[in-house]
Amino acid sequence: MSVWAVGQATVTRVEETFGPTYPPAHLFPEWNDDIFAEHKTWLAPNHYDPATGLVKLSVHSWLLQLGGRKILIDSCCGNNKTKPGRPFWNMLSLPYLDRLAAAGARAEEIDFVMCTHLHHDHVGWNTQLKDGRWVPTFPNARYVFSKPDFDYFKQLDADPAKEPAEFGTFRECVLPIVEAGRAELVTGPHRLDDHLEIIPAPGHSPGHVVFKLDSGGAQALFIGDVFHHLMQVYYPHWNFPKNSDAEQARRSRKQVLELCASTGALVLPGHVGAPFAGHIEATAKGFRPRFDLADGKVRR
Ligand SMILES: [Zn+2]
Repeated sequence: MSVWAVGQATVTRVEETFGPTYPPAHLFPEWNDDIFAEHKTWLAPNHYDPATGLVKLSVHSWLLQLGGRKILIDSCCGNNKTKPGRPFWNMLSLPYLDRLAAAGARAEEIDFVMCTHLHHDHVGWNTQLKDGRWVPTFPNARYVFSKPDFDYFKQLDADPAKEPAEFGTFRECVLPIVEAGRAELVTGPHRLDDHLEIIPAPGHSPGHVVFKLDSGGAQALFIGDVFHHLMQVYYPHWNFPKNSDAEQARRSRKQVLELCASTGALVLPGHVGAPFAGHIEATAKGFRPRFDLADGKVRR
């Protein structure tokens, strides 16, 4: 288990899955042999699996604990969810809630669930199947959703040509929360309290946001899917597939990378492989990641 200290806060990674997924060219058409040779030394084994030739991605939540509050950031794929074309995330049956408890929070102790966006792999554990119904997994939590994302997927879900939105997860994992009166639909920029701020970073989805944590002079940025892989730090114009607006996604990535580099914040992405969190440095050419197990901030 990986735990980071950020001022008075602690952040713990709660794993759902971590392993090989897609061939590099399926994700990034720009990936070629020369670029691969240049980055080979750090890619394996945490960001690329040499045995299969597939890109490694993680799906995880962040448990943020601060001042007695327990906040879950992004809620993965969830169990019992159909994911066409994604065999590694399809119909999972994993002890995620046990892992969350081991990280420091039972489901009923979660005060807030915050989703960077409403794609299927960030809302899964919002609900669980009980007696044939999808009900809130975290019975005492308020759920913070981006309103522009909610509006977008609601419209998509009502379109006979495109429904069900996000493989049905909008109906299974988002609507039941709103109908139970547990959702806060927010439009950024928005400050939640003295420590947490919501910053819009649209493009991967229309309402994608970043959460900025300030505690005791230290900062962390929960950046969701602004980048999925560290190669996109070196090459910020590389887009992961499936963006609502490809150019906007590129612009947001550059802005967020600049924010990461200028603040020196701990950067916590949604899918980057081990060590899962780190820092971004500005260089003469652009940016480079400093995701280093030896940076003294990680306990394993
Ligand atoms: Zn994602």
